[in-house]
Amino acid sequence: MSDAVLKLNAITKVYNQGAPGEVSVLRDASLSLKPGEVVALVAPSGAGKSTLLHIAGLLDTQDAGQVMIRGKDMGKLSDRKRTETRREEVGFIYQFHHLLPEFSALENVVLPQLANGVSPGKASEHAMKLLEKTGVAARACHRPAELSGGEQQRVAFCRALANQPALLLADEPTGNLDPETADLVFGVLMELVRASGLSALIATHNMELAARMDRVLRLEDGHIV
Ligand code: ADP
Repeated sequence: MSDAVLKLNAITKVYNQGAPGEVSVLRDASLSLKPGEVVALVAPSGAGKSTLLHIAGLLDTQDAGQVMIRGKDMGKLSDRKRTETRREEVGFIYQFHHLLPEFSALENVVLPQLANGVSPGKASEHAMKLLEKTGVAARACHRPAELSGGEQQRVAFCRALANQPALLLADEPTGNLDPETADLVFGVLMELVRASGLSALIATHNMELAARMDRVLRLEDGHIV
């Protein structure tokens, strides 16, 4: 499938290779995401979801196999080009928001755009639109510590989408919220993803949330099934 936004071909990852504590986390793990597709990655804790997302998002390297983003083999890029691809094409969301505590919600969404060369005026306008879409515009001038868990996560979604990536990788994005808030905030995330048309791989162990995505992949014994 040459039009895949993300393609993982036979990814293998072993931690502490050759040492007594060797952990073989991924073995020939393969998957493919079409444009606009939202896919759940389901597995119990410790199965290797974060490892797979980090490799797909170029934050970690595999021991064998190939990561393709929009048809390009990431293994063939220089470190500089990989960093550039990560910044321009990939958005990340974690279980914990990881917002910068000393900056406001708005500034947290503006900063990645400035790093990408967008002018402050345009970045601010775009950030405000995203905060409006996720229902947190009224909290734009507040720092993360002054926001609820659900609001913090909404701001983190805006930050991940600020540079209009082609691919969103999310690691238990609502895992830190109570079930009711998780349900609501997940709905906000899905609306945002659908409106922007990007492809998303979302790790979760919540089967109800997984069922709301286009497809469910399971990670079992290091393989995608
Ligand atoms: P998940 O996200 O599904 O909970 P992880 O990808 O975080 O799983 O971890 C998969 C396995 O790899 C676990 O057994 C974990 O202990 C191990 N692991 C993760 N990172 C490292 C590391 N840097 N060094 C050694 N082992 C690791």
